[in-house]
Amino acid sequence: MTSPNSEAPVLVGTSWKMNKTLAEATAYVDDLVGAGVPDVVDAFILPPHTALAAVRDRLPRDSRIRLGAQNAHWAAEGAATGEVSMRMVRDAGATIVEIGHSERRTEFGETDEHVACKVAAALDHGLTALVCVGEPRDVRDAGGSEDHVVAQVRSSLSMVSGADSTSVLLAYEPVWAIGEGGSPASPEQVAPVVRAVRRVMAERLIGEAGTVLYGGSVDDTNATELLEGAGADGLFVGRAGLSATGFARLLSVCAAAHPLRHSTPNDREVDDAAIR
Ligand code: PEP
Repeated sequence: MTSPNSEAPVLVGTSWKMNKTLAEATAYVDDLVGAGVPDVVDAFILPPHTALAAVRDRLPRDSRIRLGAQNAHWAAEGAATGEVSMRMVRDAGATIVEIGHSERRTEFGETDEHVACKVAAALDHGLTALVCVGEPRDVRDAGGSEDHVVAQVRSSLSMVSGADSTSVLLAYEPVWAIGEGGSPASPEQVAPVVRAVRRVMAERLIGEAGTVLYGGSVDDTNATELLEGAGADGLFVGRAGLSATGFARLLSVCAAAHPLRHSTPNDREVDDAAIR
């Protein structure tokens, strides 16, 4: 199985989570820009808030690397100590905002209601909402993954009915697959959930089919089988994108897995050579 729209670029993004000083962030950008982004890949990076503006200023004007924030508050401004708003991350250069990552849900008490408010606020401020959903291990073991994720997606989009599908990206990230101690889901586990997410997106959003990513312990050894077998439009990574060289390598692997790159044997050889 390949991505549903075989002409579309593969979308591959990374969150740096709570990592990188300004110097480390700008060095990463220089290295990634130097390595280049393959034609059939669209890439995004989510630095910490402190580095957003510096990364924006370091990226070349014509860069194909999109910039996003890892979180933002739903209110435009006000008495919310320690928070930053959608308006502020947009001002600092973000065009994407991640919402509802499992670490925010479990460690910072973010609820489905918070997520819904944030998605609406993101769209109001012209940001693309990257909404993370995924079931915990016990739900997977009990066979409830699809129902759990469908409920999360419905709730996330409950305040934005009728919005354009390009304004929302959905990342399916099973909680048990993410981070240290996580194990990657198999394509067979991911595929039915991705299909279910697409159905809900089609109910609530207008326009072409929405974009669904898979995330959770992806690296350059399993990216190809996940892209080819899970029916997702791309991948969202943490650890595999923490170094610029690692992320660049992953982008090359994803480019080689893109259906258009399989059109001739020669293309395939070129791609294989490029990732060695
Ligand atoms: C994540 O935390 O969203 C994630 C995908 O992390 P990792 O790739 O490190 O499992």
